[in-house]
This record gives sequence, C-alpha cells and structure tokens, in this order.
Amino acid sequence: MDQFKDKRVVVTGAGRGIGLAVAEAFAAEGARVAVLSRNEQSCGQAAAAINKKYSNTATPFAVDVADYDAMQVVGKEIVTDFEGVDILINNAGITRDGLLLRMTGEDWDAVMNTNLKGAFNAVKAFQRPLMKSGGGRIVNVSSVIGLIGNAGQANYAASKAGLIGFTKSVARELASRKVTCNAIAPGFIRTDMTDALSEDMQEEIIKRVPLKDMGNTEEIASLALYLSSPEARYLTGQVIAIDGGMTM
Ligand code: NAP
Repeated sequence: MDQFKDKRVVVTGAGRGIGLAVAEAFAAEGARVAVLSRNEQSCGQAAAAINKKYSNTATPFAVDVADYDAMQVVGKEIVTDFEGVDILINNAGITRDGLLLRMTGEDWDAVMNTNLKGAFNAVKAFQRPLMKSGGGRIVNVSSVIGLIGNAGQANYAASKAGLIGFTKSVARELASRKVTCNAIAPGFIRTDMTDALSEDMQEEIIKRVPLKDMGNTEEIASLALYLSSPEARYLTGQVIAIDGGMTM
C-alpha cells in the first residue's frame, strides 16, 4: 500500500514487543524508521531484522528516553539523518510492580521517568520537525491500567494516566500546526512484559477479558498506523482502548 512511503518515523522502545511490531508495520508501508531502545544490541538486532525484510528502512539508535539530554542529542542526530520527522510513537515503557507497602521511591521514579518523562523528552526532541511536517503525528502508548488502576501498579498506573493528560495537552498545543496527538491504551497484549507473569496470573487476566483472549502486537501496530495516517487527520486528543472489551 505504501501509504507511509518515505515518511520519517521514530519509535521508542522498539527493540522488541509492541514497539518492534509498530516499527516493522511502518517499514512494511515504505516508511523510514528510527528504531530506539536503551540497549545497543537490542535496537541493532531489531533494525537488522526489519532491514532483512524491507531493505534499508530501519536505523537503530541506542538511547535511554528517560535521559533528557541524551534524548535531545539523539533527536538532533535523527532529524539530521532523516532531514525531518513526521511521526513519533512514544512506546518505551517499563514496570516495577509492587504493593505500596513495598514499593520504593526508586521504583516510583524509574517508572515515571521512563513512561511519562520519556514521552516529554521525546516530544521536546521532535516537536519542531513535527510542526514543520505539515501533518505531524504523535501516538503515545498508555495502558488500560492508566484508566482503571491496578493493585500493585500504583507507579505504572500513575505514569500511564499522566501520559493521557500529557496527550490531551500536546494535542491542544500543537493542533494549530496540524499535529495530532492521541493515546493507545492496550489491555493485555502478548509480549515479554506479559510472558513474565505466571500462568495462573495470565489465566486470571484472560477471565477478566470479555473476548477471552490476550491481544497481539500486530493489532496494536495496526491502530498506531491508523492514528498516524492521513485518514486520521480529524482525530486528536483521544484515548483508544484496545483491550478485548475489558474497560467498556
Ligand atoms: P517490552 O516487551 O518490555 O519492550 C519494551 C521496549 O522498551 C524494549 O525494546 C526496551 O528495550 C525499551 N525500553 C525500556 N525502557 C526504555 C528506556 N528507558 N529508553 C528506551 N527504551 C526503553 O514491552 P511491551 O510489552 O512491548 O510494551 C510496550 C509499551 O506498551 C509499554 O509502554 C507498555 O507499558 C505498554 N503496554 C503494554 C501492554 C502489554 O500487555 N504488553 C499493555 C499495555 C500497555 P531496552 O530494554 O533495550 O531499552
């Protein structure tokens, strides 16, 4: 279809899981994709795997999105290399779960710094080129946990709820420049993050989902592509839950 032919896309947390599926889906549509993750090896391997299928579409950049200065440096590098940026997918995210009695200040800061401040850091790095793009797109990967909360995930829920407030503010601020900003709130999606849960926990989760299944990364990628497409021109500041009906 090539509807993203030569569009310049940045995907954070693209070393594996949802981010990798999103990066690959954009590459399949002819985009040029900056594949970001902390670990040089993981983003290098992800970009190499994408390039094997869709030649020379992906470039790896190792950066910790939680590090404001490092993100601005890598941002400049990407903007120079790609001669601009049209689409930013803020997907990098971590969990440090624990009941409040046991959750440390470090657990709180680590999750807020990656999941929420990381998105701010990336928007700061790419705001100008997105405004110049003439139809820039920002998609923030939040979570249903940011909508409904979860025992043992106070830090994660706060970061993902914060990301929703951030999304709506960015949408309002950049609307006059034709930049849209939306959030995706996935439910339980099969990735390393959910594979880390015990089988019992996975079964418990599935019981709570009306469609009685977990989602897959390609389904999140399809939604990210739609929100980034020209067809979604009139859609901004929204949170779209893709969760098998969990939060309806
Ligand atoms: P994942 O499999 O754990 O992958 C996370 C990716 O983010 C990895 O590539 C990781 O690579 C990168 N990353 C982590 N911290 C980073 C940082 N500080 N800077 C740059 N990159 C970083 O996670 P996932 O399940 O695909 O989740 C992706 C996003 O979807 C997250 O925001 C998550 O909260 C959200 N989400 C997931 C689910 C689910 O069920 N899986 C549900 C709702 C929302 P490195 O370790 O190399 O940095």
